[in-house]
Amino acid sequence: MPHDQRNAVPAQEFPTSPAADLLSLSSGIWPTTAAADENGTLTIGGIPVTEIAERHGTPVYVFDETDFRKRCDRFRKAFEDFDVYYAGKAFLSRTTARLAEAAGLSLDVCTEGELAFAEAVGFPGDRILMHGNNKSTEELAAALDYGVGRIVVDSFAELDRLRDLLPRFPGVRPQVLLRVTVGVHADTHDYIATAHEDQKFGFSLVSGEAAAAVRRVLDDGLLELRGLHSHIGSQILGTAGFEAAAKRLLELRAQFVREGAQLPELDLGGGFGIAYSPEDEPTEPEDMADILRTVVAKECAVLGVDVPRLAIEPGRAIVGPSGVTLYTVGTVKHREGIRTFVAVDGGMSDNVRTALYDATYSVRLAGRTSDAPLRLSRVVGKHCDAGDVVVRDDHLPADVRVGDLLAVPGTGAYCRSLAHNYNQVPRPPVVAVADGETRVIVRRETIDDLLRLDMG
Ligand SMILES: *Cc1c(COP(=O)(O)O)cnc(C)c1O
Repeated sequence: MPHDQRNAVPAQEFPTSPAADLLSLSSGIWPTTAAADENGTLTIGGIPVTEIAERHGTPVYVFDETDFRKRCDRFRKAFEDFDVYYAGKAFLSRTTARLAEAAGLSLDVCTEGELAFAEAVGFPGDRILMHGNNKSTEELAAALDYGVGRIVVDSFAELDRLRDLLPRFPGVRPQVLLRVTVGVHADTHDYIATAHEDQKFGFSLVSGEAAAAVRRVLDDGLLELRGLHSHIGSQILGTAGFEAAAKRLLELRAQFVREGAQLPELDLGGGFGIAYSPEDEPTEPEDMADILRTVVAKECAVLGVDVPRLAIEPGRAIVGPSGVTLYTVGTVKHREGIRTFVAVDGGMSDNVRTALYDATYSVRLAGRTSDAPLRLSRVVGKHCDAGDVVVRDDHLPADVRVGDLLAVPGTGAYCRSLAHNYNQVPRPPVVAVADGETRVIVRRETIDDLLRLDMG
């Protein structure tokens, strides 16, 4: 459906009650500790969001630490026979790196900057994997210097760069995976589908490039080839894409295993989807683990080869549901026959996903209850751009007014990490909540921070 047509949703009214609001807290889109107190105020980590907003201001990213810990544990357990790399790019801070480490997860980084956060908490190098389609010589050197356990090589140019670096690291034989573009078009937004032919990542399978890369690494012997890697995209709710990718990787692998090569690992990447609205039905980690295990075992039996150790790299599925963004309403405009625009004190600078990927979010009146009928509303930001939308369509009480506190769930992944300073708007803080306490884990940026970068 064309963009404009779909957006022209007529105003509708639905009856509601505080009870309906409470019900929505169990719809799978809120962090585990989200609840409503006796006044109907949303609480996270045992703290009313009104208190969080008062103490830390808005907009603010609230990080449910308990939720994050639980999800790390759940993935660790569900995928106990896999290597589980937390994909740092979803949201990397010293706190998330430490918590992931403590939960026994490994860490996936893709730049020198992300590696620096791992180093800052002493994350064990052998549990770090670095991928990326255009790693610089300096980034590869930093990875080798820190003893990063796996480098996912993405191009022939990178193979050259690694080879040229080796004299600087005598006795080091980097352990690498080769990223393969398996030709699967994952069922997700085009910008986050990463394994069809028409995109920038990896060695193409169909063209024979991937086989040539394997051949080259095996022949020159400078690198220790641990196996193949694929990442088909992000926010994928089903399992078909992962199954197809695994089969194609295993077929390629089998060609070389039959010749006597050892490729003991297979990395299936990340991309497991989460619920952003009550209609989304993501695959549970336990089911995903079972399916991947079974598919790989079956396929290896058919191919007559050994079963490799599997790895996954979930980012969003671990941290996405841990985050809730709080905003304060600044203006409300009822456009008769079109829709209601509710403008908040943040926007595309703290959550660019709606503008970038047409992402779906939900919103809830968080600081009070209302008996007013629900009205289809659009939550927009304060930026000078008509595409500055946070929540495209969701229902808010018709009496939503200036000063109200709104909560948008599912903002733990790819919100702070994609935040920017359009209109010189400082980026919000990340406030961890747990057991009735708040703790700032990333402080609010200030206008002074922004001015300081400007050299006049
Ligand atoms: C982005 C990315 C991930 C994490 O993706 P999620 O959708 O957050 O799980 C994992 N691996 C690679 C190579 C990536 O680029």
